[in-house]
Amino acid sequence: MITGKTRLNAVIGFPIGHSKSPALHNALYQKLGIDAVMLAFAHNNLKNLISAIKTLNIGLAAVTMPFKQSVMPFLDKIDKTAKKINSVNTIINKNGKLFGYNTDIDGIARALKGVVIRNKIVLVLGAGGAARAIAYYIKMKKGKLAYINRTKTKASILQKDFGGRIASLKALQSAQIIINATPIGMHPKVKASPLSKKFLRKTQVVFDLVYNPAPTQLLKDAKTAGAKTVSGTEMFAGQALRQIELFTNKKLSNPRLTALAVNLLIKT
Ligand code: NAP
Repeated sequence: MITGKTRLNAVIGFPIGHSKSPALHNALYQKLGIDAVMLAFAHNNLKNLISAIKTLNIGLAAVTMPFKQSVMPFLDKIDKTAKKINSVNTIINKNGKLFGYNTDIDGIARALKGVVIRNKIVLVLGAGGAARAIAYYIKMKKGKLAYINRTKTKASILQKDFGGRIASLKALQSAQIIINATPIGMHPKVKASPLSKKFLRKTQVVFDLVYNPAPTQLLKDAKTAGAKTVSGTEMFAGQALRQIELFTNKKLSNPRLTALAVNLLIKT
């Protein structure tokens, strides 16, 4: 029930209609008994959005495209992982001071829990913000990074910042873990896949960051090939749970909660 004490949270971006954050957050707040509500604010002037966060005392603001980098100069303090990734997807308002975090990295860690990365050849498709978080995580776990991106210069920036190499056809064939960090396969172009079936094998792990639809064409093909598949829903649920941890200052590391969040997400 919404009362005079209910906290207002937000997801900010432009456009924002596609965001699943309000549906997932509000369902989780209800399940966890958190007195808060999340609404989506579509607005293209970031300065106005920041001033709204302060004026309306918004407790948590999830940040989505196109503001994940441009929001950084507006914040009072930025967590060191978010600085290294150069991307903020979460703002926590503590008494008018704005703190920036990157919880995509926590979502990646939850999604890839149990997957051995050390010394594995990890092929990353894409070189945008999400690929940067992936590259940071894989480097931390000592995987061997290989990048493919439509715009080669952007893949070179990842290589410079996180090591690894630009993938050749050989790297494509020898990839042990494949991670799609492009929007290819996302609703409405659900039949599209970023990688031909001929590169998929049963010894691989295939992780698709795209979470709408779930599963994507890439994950369907990977499953048919016998590979282990990891869905973007796991990452999305994981990053949202970490946002709620930062907001409530309480640990939510129960794996059953991740499963519940994934289910809520698939239903929305
Ligand atoms: P972004 O910064 O816009 O980067 C997108 C990347 O994909 C760029 O490298 C771009 O290549 C490439 N790309 C886009 N369209 C392409 C096409 N038609 N063919 C080939 N390459 C293409 O986006 P992002 O924030 O990194 O997000 C990437 C995907 O991850 C999105 O689908 C997003 O929904 C998903 N994501 C999921 C989660 C989750 O929690 N599951 C979290 C974050 C993001 P260029 O460099 O050539 O432009």
